Amino acid sequence: MENEINIIKGRDPGEREFHQAVTEVLESIAPVLEKNPEYRRLKIVQRITEPERIIIFRVPWMDDRGGVHVNRGFRIEMNSALGPYKGGLRFHPSVNLSILKFLAFEQVFKNALTTLQMGGGKGGSDFDPKGKSDSEVMRFCQSFMAELFRHIGPNTDIPAGDIGVGAREIGFLFGMYKKLKNEFTGVLTGKSIGWGGSLIRPEATGYGCVYFAAEMLAEKNSTISDKICLVSGSGNVAQFTSEKIIALGGKVITLSDSSGYILDESGIDESKLHFVKRLKNVKRGRIKEYADKYKEAVYTVCDHGAGYNPLWNYKADCAFPCATENEINETDAQNLINNGVSLVCEGANMPVMYGGVKLFLDNNILYGPAKAANAGGVAVSGLEMAQNSMRLSWPAEEVDQRLKIIMKNIHRSSLDAARQYNLPGNYFAGANMAGFIKVVEAMIDQGLV
Ligand code: NDP
Repeated sequence: MENEINIIKGRDPGEREFHQAVTEVLESIAPVLEKNPEYRRLKIVQRITEPERIIIFRVPWMDDRGGVHVNRGFRIEMNSALGPYKGGLRFHPSVNLSILKFLAFEQVFKNALTTLQMGGGKGGSDFDPKGKSDSEVMRFCQSFMAELFRHIGPNTDIPAGDIGVGAREIGFLFGMYKKLKNEFTGVLTGKSIGWGGSLIRPEATGYGCVYFAAEMLAEKNSTISDKICLVSGSGNVAQFTSEKIIALGGKVITLSDSSGYILDESGIDESKLHFVKRLKNVKRGRIKEYADKYKEAVYTVCDHGAGYNPLWNYKADCAFPCATENEINETDAQNLINNGVSLVCEGANMPVMYGGVKLFLDNNILYGPAKAANAGGVAVSGLEMAQNSMRLSWPAEEVDQRLKIIMKNIHRSSLDAARQYNLPGNYFAGANMAGFIKVVEAMIDQGLV
């Protein structure tokens, strides 16, 4: 295994996040490779870690003062064994090939776990929507789609949102695709409800994450009620994770953005959460303003050089990292354990570094890995595609019910796979194994393509 990982690292040196994701998956599926020698003969590891296609393109756009800017656009079409490529678009200055390849690689197994017919992909740009006017964001989205439209389609590749790509951006991207192709199709998910979106799609990743946590707790005869929860982020996933925790009787005491975090030990209730949604989704402000409005809260500026994140250093029962990758290092993981946290459930993709994951597993922490715990978003995207094909809209209760069942099944298949390989309770290995086997069997059926 080490040899295979070294070959991948040697081939694309410098792709730190991609190597991290590949190492985590390959090390945990080693028993599956051991049991199935034909996977090695068929070079499955080499095939599954190589994207089927990568598209990189120039995105020129003009700001409101007439200044010209050039960003870089990407789409990674990673694996289509189970269906058309499916995965979000991220607009953030940190976006590069390594980050998108890690996200696309994870997406392949995540989508497999949902059992819906979706391959895996991911894309985006190093464009930063922060501080841009609506018309600047629109011009950027139009320029981005002016190239991307050639490569996507409702049966080929169906992008969605991710960091920096919400309802506003999806609307602009969809409008441009429609104009260029002269067709109204379900080529993007996360559309607004009035023109082809699915009810519960905005909520789905966060709600699904809490449904997954509730399933893990139920295994231990416990519930989310009365649990003190640390949540990071304040975007889409953090908002709806918090909403569902509050609805189930838990207490959320933290939220963050890339500038800092707030601690509100009295608990973020429904009305305070409503303020956060308006602050982030409408006003596009900073989380600091929460502490300006609610005097019981304390705001702390983020110190990137500190070596640890104080947000993860409070007494609590559960942690829901919902901001971005690598936000919990080994020190943070140890702090969480020392503070009595017994459940960590990932709303964001790969928020816990591998050293932290190992600490959680060694300390019997209930640890819900992203590809299982945050699969609710893409699952409801799959349901949005189904509704678009039928030209129907299901009621919110029906979509929510389906989401719950999907999360329950992902939880069960992760647990079953772990048990089958003598790793009972190890959701990390179980999710990787269950997703991997499903994709690999389809790849083998479809021959060497
Ligand atoms: P949003 O853009 O809505 O929110 C992202 C949040 O994370 C913001 O609060 C942002 O702060 C913060 N953040 C972003 N980058 C950093 C950083 N480098 N350091 C600290 N904070 C940061 O994105 P989403 O909520 O959609 O996505 C959050 C995570 O969930 C990502 O990992 C994404 O891949 C994952 N995910 C999202 C899904 C979805 O359906 N949206 C589905 C599955 C996974 P700021 O405002 O300052 O930028």
